[in-house]
Amino acid sequence: TGLDLPRTTEAILAADGHLVQSWADLNGLKKPGARTAIVAAKGTMVRDSDGNDLIDGIGGLWCVNVGHGRREIIDAIAQQLSTLDFYSTFYTFTHPAAAALAQKLATLAPGSLNRVHFSNSGSVANDGAVRILHHYYERLGRRTKKLVLSRHGAYHGSTYLSIAMTTPPYSKGWSKAEGIVHHLKKPHYWREGADMTEAEFLDALIEDMRTQIEHLGAENIACFIGEPIMGAGGVIVPPAGYHKRVQELCAHYDIKFVADEVVTAFGRLGHFFASEAVFDTQPDMITVAKGITSGYQPLAATLMTDEIHEVISGPDGVFTHGMTYAGHPAAAAAGLANIALMEAEHIPERVRVTGKLFENTLRSLGDIDIVGEVRGSHFMMGIEFVRDKASKALFPEALNIGMLVARKAQEKGLIARPLGHILILSPPLVLTEVEIARIGSILRDSILEVMRDLPSLNR
Ligand code: PLP
Repeated sequence: TGLDLPRTTEAILAADGHLVQSWADLNGLKKPGARTAIVAAKGTMVRDSDGNDLIDGIGGLWCVNVGHGRREIIDAIAQQLSTLDFYSTFYTFTHPAAAALAQKLATLAPGSLNRVHFSNSGSVANDGAVRILHHYYERLGRRTKKLVLSRHGAYHGSTYLSIAMTTPPYSKGWSKAEGIVHHLKKPHYWREGADMTEAEFLDALIEDMRTQIEHLGAENIACFIGEPIMGAGGVIVPPAGYHKRVQELCAHYDIKFVADEVVTAFGRLGHFFASEAVFDTQPDMITVAKGITSGYQPLAATLMTDEIHEVISGPDGVFTHGMTYAGHPAAAAAGLANIALMEAEHIPERVRVTGKLFENTLRSLGDIDIVGEVRGSHFMMGIEFVRDKASKALFPEALNIGMLVARKAQEKGLIARPLGHILILSPPLVLTEVEIARIGSILRDSILEVMRDLPSLNR
């Protein structure tokens, strides 16, 4: 390759001592064997530095939607770089790849979401959505509309504002932007809906939102932001009709409705965008990242309606927002090639079949004693472990049950993502039926082995 990279596990981990990892227990990482170096990938598989081939059950990080090593995307990136390696979309400049991708996104997105602002990560796309709305209300002379409604359990990123929009335990003690963001109830019926029917729980969620809006004053609230299905918060699927009711309440109080589709877009739920097709909503803004390039290049976008764009592009002043690499030619080329590939191979349509099979395969693990709830949709799934099924009591946090199962699964050839007492699966969307069955059996064996090893269970 011409790159002089460390090759052995030992050499990689020695070099890695200088790398500060993200979202990690940095102290725990000092222990030998705590880190896994991934050195190569193809299709739905990755290879670690010891030569083990593993099914990529988390699609990189909810993002490698079309699978690894797709020539079409790699070639498009290389071709773009050899024609135009870099130019920005600042000031008066633009370039063909960013323009073409913006146009393509506008044709795929619902309603009048026809305007696209690029950035480099989902966090920044979400920060951008709020900044753009602040700009919008400033232009309209409604300067008090600054606050953001988010939800407990949300994950919107880790920049200063997006971590504040993220669920409080993650942002605790870190973010000073908390005064801007207010959290509504988590829409998780199984955990939070005790003694209520699902319909009553939904009414209670909407009532909580109405109360918070009345308390804060609609004239002070810029937007509601929500993931159609919460991802890193534990794969929380809200009650049917929830998003539609939230959007209706937003419309009633003149609050913009922002859908964070960083995970749910680009086929993961069987459609390019889930907002309209799955949740019957027409957001005022949608943010995307991850699957937009299937992870081949860093790229994110904030999509806005013509109406919002009309206001921010009015005659009084400059749009003071943007990042150097936003809409980078190589990233935009990757996005275009990725979408073309998804269309040519009918990936979203196929997900409606294979994703359902994946979902049902995982749901069948629900008969295991320590599996409390299997939830999610298509290729976005979570398994919550409980010490006691009837009371839904959790294992002690220190046991790190998710990590125990994830380690077993990795020994058996599957990467899954532990999140406390939850295990997350978000594989590439091109898994075969055989691979889906294999994931199901690895997970079953791993969970049963962990269960057997837990003396405290007294089983
Ligand atoms: N929004 C959601 C729903 C996410 O899952 C993530 C990342 O996992 C983000 C935003 C942040 O994206 P990034 O890590 O690219 O900044």
